[in-house]
Amino acid sequence: MIFTNLTRANEIGANSYLLDFGQDGRVVLDAGMHPRGEGIQGLPQLEKMKFDSVDTILVSHAHHDHTGALPLLMRDHPSARVFMSEATYYLAEPLLHNSVQVMLKQKAEKGIVEFPLFTHRELDQLVKVWQACGLERNWSPNGYPDPENEPLTFTLHDAGHILGSTGTALHHRGRTIFYTGDVNFADQTLSRAAEFPRSGIDVLIIETTRGAQPRKEGFTREAEVERLATSIEQTFARGGAVLMPVFAMGKTQELLAQLHFLQKSRRLPVSPIYIGGLGRSFSEIYDRLAGRTRRKYPKLNLLDDIAPQVMDGRRARDFSPKKGHIYLISSGMMTENTLSNIFAQEFLAHDRHSIYFVGYCDPESPAGLLRATKPGDSVTLNKEYGPQPVRCPVDYFDFTAHAQREDLLRYILDVRPRVCVLVHGDPPALAWFQQELAVQAPEIKVVIPPPGEGIEL
Ligand SMILES: [Zn+2]
Ligand SMILES: [Zn+2]
Repeated sequence: MIFTNLTRANEIGANSYLLDFGQDGRVVLDAGMHPRGEGIQGLPQLEKMKFDSVDTILVSHAHHDHTGALPLLMRDHPSARVFMSEATYYLAEPLLHNSVQVMLKQKAEKGIVEFPLFTHRELDQLVKVWQACGLERNWSPNGYPDPENEPLTFTLHDAGHILGSTGTALHHRGRTIFYTGDVNFADQTLSRAAEFPRSGIDVLIIETTRGAQPRKEGFTREAEVERLATSIEQTFARGGAVLMPVFAMGKTQELLAQLHFLQKSRRLPVSPIYIGGLGRSFSEIYDRLAGRTRRKYPKLNLLDDIAPQVMDGRRARDFSPKKGHIYLISSGMMTENTLSNIFAQEFLAHDRHSIYFVGYCDPESPAGLLRATKPGDSVTLNKEYGPQPVRCPVDYFDFTAHAQREDLLRYILDVRPRVCVLVHGDPPALAWFQQELAVQAPEIKVVIPPPGEGIEL
């Protein structure tokens, strides 16, 4: 098998990986867009593959850094079949339609000529090819279940990262290659911990997002929830409001449920929670699939039971935060001209408010820049408006949807693959795993795959 890392750098970027099994088939795992990528530079190196040379595309989960370039990959490989879990099937379509909207907006604002990279109409055609596959079941690349005597088959396993996220096992002539996608080995508020195979894996391709962050001494999720509740209380006591920049998919629903439980148990006063329009759309899908996924609290209906208010994006510029209200607004990285970016400018101007981050953000995104700014110093959230002083408290709560690095390492050591390929991590994260494995399991061949180069595994 020849493995090619199709990203443009070893980082958390536009995830996409080619597995070439020769005459038995060519498989692409994920086709993402870089969170900061603008235009062609945000895409994986799709040009490395000849026209219509891919047979199978497997999508691990619906986040944009794994699906954003899927329409372009499909356009280049019209004969390829596309497989994913049922929940990803439902989540990825509205996500990609939203991506067209965002590209059209950026074309107008920043003059990116190649945007949009695909259209609503093209998407409507492409999604007809997608096939949803049940978990823990063996599938043929031809799309039928429980095949016999096929050289190459695949199985999807719950990855516990967001609704529908999966790890993918490829079974090829007696050997198994396992791609984790984004994974969480711990329970979240709604998502349950991953259920991954722990033996029989020959080549392990594993995400390393948190490789540079040691587990904090004494850290528990419960204590972090308690710290969040106390901080929200203090903000309300000052007459302020709370802004939490979140991804519309995954983090919005997790936090919505968490805040609901804090209100229900009277730990926090019952106060209005606002979400964005896209967050609402994805919450609807979470609700629709509640009974058919491994999620916790399947009877909790996010939209009916919690009844969040939906922000009207068109009036964002006249917005003023109200005392005691919580705003769970995307984008999570506070990309310029998104609601969370526009709202943050208003929050930062008043010391009674607070801004709380709850997940991963790219260090160079506006959210990353704000997180690194000391109180009283200035930050530029939008280049058009220039720097502004940070007057309100800004804090970070660790409600990550990614596995702790110690849990990822434990998993690698349990599995003991012949080869371990490290992906989805920045260079310091990759280096930590490489060093640990060299000491703890020198018999495992560790590979940091150079972008664009085919390597025989
Ligand atoms: Zn993800
Ligand atoms: Zn990712």
